[in-house]
Amino acid sequence: MPAPSSSTVFEKLTKMGDVTLFEPAGDTPFHEAQTQVQRGRSTFDFADCISHVQTPRGSKPVLKTMITSACERNCNYCPFRAGRSKTTRVTLTPDEIAHATVVMQQAKQIDGLFLSSGIIKGGVTSQDKIIDAAEILRQKHRYTGYIHLKIMPGAEYDQLLRAMQIADRVSINLEGPTKERLEALAPKKGFMQELLVQLQRAHEIKQNHDRIRASIVTQFVVGAVGDTDLELLSLSDNLYNKLGLSRTYYSAFSPVVDTPFDNLAAASKTRQHRLYQSSFLLRDYAWDVEDLPFLGDGNLRTDVDPKQAWADIYLRQNPIDLMTADRSQLLRVPGVGIKAAEAILKARRERRLRDLGQLSRLGIRNPQQMSPYVLLGGQRPPQQLALF
Ligand code: SF4
Repeated sequence: MPAPSSSTVFEKLTKMGDVTLFEPAGDTPFHEAQTQVQRGRSTFDFADCISHVQTPRGSKPVLKTMITSACERNCNYCPFRAGRSKTTRVTLTPDEIAHATVVMQQAKQIDGLFLSSGIIKGGVTSQDKIIDAAEILRQKHRYTGYIHLKIMPGAEYDQLLRAMQIADRVSINLEGPTKERLEALAPKKGFMQELLVQLQRAHEIKQNHDRIRASIVTQFVVGAVGDTDLELLSLSDNLYNKLGLSRTYYSAFSPVVDTPFDNLAAASKTRQHRLYQSSFLLRDYAWDVEDLPFLGDGNLRTDVDPKQAWADIYLRQNPIDLMTADRSQLLRVPGVGIKAAEAILKARRERRLRDLGQLSRLGIRNPQQMSPYVLLGGQRPPQQLALF
C-alpha cells in the first residue's frame, strides 16, 4: 500500500476540529482545560491538534485526534452527534493516523498519540480501526512513544485486551455516574452492559494477564443532568478501590450549539476543580467518601476546598498535635500533603516542633494555612490576622 500523502493527512487533521476540548487525557486536566480556553479562537489550526498532557513520566506534547468525527449515536452534549449539520465530518484511515504520528514525532512536535473515534457501524468496527492504527505504529513503525486509546462502547473482550497490551493508557468513559444520568446524557449508551462491564473487564485483564502496560481511566460529564458530587465521588471511590482506576476525569458541561443541550447553562469550572481535589483525597489520602463534607443536596461547597471545609468542621475545635498525630491524621490538615506529612514525621523524630518557622524550613510552603487546625509545642500557633 502506498504511503499516505502528508499534505492530505494534515489537511484532514486540521479539519477534524478541536477534539481536545472534549477529551482530557493527562494528569492535570484542569491545566489542559485552561490552555484550551486561552486559545479561545473560533477557528482551528493544526497546532491545536497538539495537547500538552501530564503523564507519570512528565509533560508530553501529544497528537489528540479521532479516526472519524462522524457518529451514529446521539449523545445530547456532543458536537459529533449524528445529524448535527454544523460538524464537518472527517475520517482518517489507521495508516494515515500512524503516518501523521510518525512524521510529527520525527519533527519533535509530539511525543505521543491520544486516539478516539466517533462510532460508525458499531463499537466493534470502530474499535478495530483504533487498534489497527496503534498496531501499525507499534509493529510497522516500531513506535515506542506514549499511546492513549479510547475504548468504544460495546467493544469486545479481545479488543480490550489487545488495546491494553499496546497502549500506555485506555479510557472507558462512563459519562454519567448512574444509569439514569447516562440515559439523560447519552440515550444510546448502556451504562452497565456497554461501559461499567468494560471497566470490570479491564481490571480483570490487568490482574490476570502478563505484560499489560495500560493504566485505566474514565471520564464524567459534570453538571448537565442534575448529577450530584455525592453520586460522582461515590462511584469514583469504588472505581479507585475496586477496579484499580488510575484516574477519573470530570469535565464541566459546556453547551454546544445545535445540540439538544444547547440552552443549558455551562457547569462551573470551580465545581470541576473541587471534584478533582476530592477525588485526590479519595485516591491518594485514604479518605472515605463519607468523610467528604457534602451539603444536604449532595454537593460540596465550591467556595472552599473540601479538605479545608472538613477541617473547619472537625479540627478548629479539636486541633491535631503535630508531635503525636499519625500519618493519616497529618494528611487531614489543610496545607499538609504527602511530602509535608513525611517531612513532619521525620523531623519530629529528631527534635520537638514548636513553631511555624520550623515547618517553613521543612519545605512546607504555607504553614500559616495549617495554624487554625494544629498544636505546636502543645499550643495553638499564633494566627496571622486578616488586614481587612
Ligand atoms: S458516541 Fe456520543 S460522545 Fe462519542 S462521538 Fe458519538 S455522539 Fe459523541
